[in-house]
Amino acid sequence: MSHYVTYAHGGEPRLGALVGAAVVDLAAADSSLPVDLLSLVRAGPDAWSVAAEVADRAPAAHRRPCAEVRLLAPLTPPRNVFAVGLNYVAHLQEGAAARSAVGEVPDVPVFFTKPPSTVVGTEAPIPWQPAVTRKLDWEAELAIVVGRGGRDIPRAEALEHVFGYTAANDVSARDLQFRHRQWFKGKSLDGCCPLGPAVVTADELGDPQQLDVGCRVNGVVKQKASTSQMIFPVAEILECLSAGMTLEPGDVILTGTPEGVGFARTPPEFLSPGDVVEVEISGIGVLRNVVGGSGS
Ligand code: ZN
Repeated sequence: MSHYVTYAHGGEPRLGALVGAAVVDLAAADSSLPVDLLSLVRAGPDAWSVAAEVADRAPAAHRRPCAEVRLLAPLTPPRNVFAVGLNYVAHLQEGAAARSAVGEVPDVPVFFTKPPSTVVGTEAPIPWQPAVTRKLDWEAELAIVVGRGGRDIPRAEALEHVFGYTAANDVSARDLQFRHRQWFKGKSLDGCCPLGPAVVTADELGDPQQLDVGCRVNGVVKQKASTSQMIFPVAEILECLSAGMTLEPGDVILTGTPEGVGFARTPPEFLSPGDVVEVEISGIGVLRNVVGGSGS
């Protein structure tokens, strides 16, 4: 039962647990614990129990006020960021309408991928690269962090393979996404997958299909939905993605965005330098990023 974060300490990333308004340095409190979240996920259920106990004890000597630490992405997945597109009916309909097309509900999840180089944490800038794109768009999404790997995972057991969940912003360069006819390029620019602020363990978060997911830009609500509206719920995504393809501990899977993205608005809206984008998921928190910076 924990909220895990990764924070910068002396230039090095450290694994922490959020306890009230403090961050507990887990590896400092118990030397058997690893210093990063990916290693903790890979270490398996016994290590997860130890980490949860240490977080519960929250030894004072190893606590730092949240205000004094800079959070990083809770983890960077080892190979790629898996993602599901078109997983909310109202979103696929708004996208189709923007292209004067008819939105058809897919029979199976639509998968795509983003490279790990897209991953940044909360408060990190989303690079502004106007020579490459002027159509950066937001997509608030629930992200799954795989705990136990496996292949051909049946739906009924799928949630037992989840370590936890975090919030994601599947930032998308719409001009590139549509011009290249395949989503990879438009979904893969540096810094275009903010994750965080924390990974909340599956036991703490509860039913992943009963969460509010939303996005605000400069304080204005752009997306507001419930994960109960997913076409393919988390368990079905895991069953389908793992069919014939082994999932590994630490894999991250974005579960799709609801309606309210910028390109489908009338008139279309895109992000500009200085814009503040906040993705909020109930039980997880607010993932906040500002557009700007060269991304180097
Ligand atoms: Zn998306």
